[in-house]
Amino acid sequence: MKEDLKLERFTYPIVSKYLPLHAILEDMKVGILIIGDEILSGETLDTNSRFAAKLLNDHGFNVINRITVGDREKEITDGLEYLLKEADIVISCGGMGPTKDDITKKNLANYFGSELIWDAKVEEELRDRYERMGRVLNELTLQQAMVPAKAEVIINPVGTAPVFWFQKNNKAVITLPGVPIEMRHLMEHIILQKLKEKFVSDFICHETIRTVGIAESLLAKKLSIIEEEIEKSCTSEHYFKLAYLPELAMVKLRISGIGKDQNLIQKKVLGWKSEIIPLIEEYIYGYGNEELAETIGKTLQLKNATLATAESCTGGYLAHLFTSVPGSSVYYKGSVITYAYEFKEDLLGVKNETLNTFGAVSEETCREMIAGALSRLKTDYVITTTGIAGPGGGTPDKPVGMVWIGVGNKNKIITKKYYFNRNRIENIHLFAITALDMLRKMLKEE
Ligand code: ATP
Repeated sequence: MKEDLKLERFTYPIVSKYLPLHAILEDMKVGILIIGDEILSGETLDTNSRFAAKLLNDHGFNVINRITVGDREKEITDGLEYLLKEADIVISCGGMGPTKDDITKKNLANYFGSELIWDAKVEEELRDRYERMGRVLNELTLQQAMVPAKAEVIINPVGTAPVFWFQKNNKAVITLPGVPIEMRHLMEHIILQKLKEKFVSDFICHETIRTVGIAESLLAKKLSIIEEEIEKSCTSEHYFKLAYLPELAMVKLRISGIGKDQNLIQKKVLGWKSEIIPLIEEYIYGYGNEELAETIGKTLQLKNATLATAESCTGGYLAHLFTSVPGSSVYYKGSVITYAYEFKEDLLGVKNETLNTFGAVSEETCREMIAGALSRLKTDYVITTTGIAGPGGGTPDKPVGMVWIGVGNKNKIITKKYYFNRNRIENIHLFAITALDMLRKMLKEE
């Protein structure tokens, strides 16, 4: 549930010009069948189909449909038949547990005219695993060893429900458990590889450039000539694409190539990457999967420098971004969250007079927060935030979404005012990303 919340709150939907990579791969259509009343009712956010669709699309599969059905036999069968009209591969997700409401296994076995039989290998695996964990294997869980005779059975190394791979008339139906951590592991480490072996003969290559502080439209303007060149390079054998993947305050650029000639594709994609970099260098913070906090961490490590955060309106979110990076304790020392006046005074030494005269959301307070953090927390760099995330608390002078952000070290303090106009959670995210970008720029300029 935690993970769902995080996704819902901080992931911005991918919009716009992103086109999947399947232009020349008409034979690999995938449908995703999400099974579960809790998804249908909105109780649980469907993160599984998003994950599976993105992974498959990244690897050249053409996800043509994602549908959700309830835990009832007819709905599952109707959904499956609907997807199979077009799709070559159907991935189903959910209802694979041993309880009464988990009916996917029985349902699909019926659909494929298959009886359920006892699988000694699944039983052995379950017994071994439970023994290793020192837990008692109950009769209900043991029923996971009943498998459809006509399916290939794939052991699930992270859960009790095996995966079933049904194959009929060149079409594949693969059943995955709904538990997100299991589904992800199975998709990433087992199913994707098997699908590629069976269905993909083309080479696929992606290069990602990560930018911050520049709008998608401005990027597109700067890259229009290269984009045209990329489009013109597509042939019936090779397909290339420059995709803009916007998130809040950030845009990922992804150059992709797909086709038979690995050398040519790699050369072209890397060539365009090195042409793009100098055109937008000041906005690039990283490549591949690198996060902005990670980039900052790498620079701090190179300088052998340390960092602390003194947060008001971001309420620890900056600390979360830094501490999410493995190994960050080398440079990131911690945070003080000074939400109330008295905390700003007591923990950072902000003057009561400053707060009463200029308010908490002011340049003066922001400066005193930095100065206080530098002297009391004793790190080489600090970041501070003080703003109004909303929805209440705004005034005509200081509207919701206004924030003062400061970065500094013993030689220099930089403060800047920004305005954003999103909801509370998105504003907090924007404040934090903007603060990270300010420090990134300061470190770069030094
Ligand atoms: P089990 O019953 O053994 O836990 P299962 O395959 O039957 O596994 P479900 O019962 O459908 O899976 O779901 C297990 C958990 O995973 C539930 O908490 C459910 O809310 C969550 N879940 C199921 N489908 C999704 C989905 N598409 N996205 C995110 N979470 C999901």
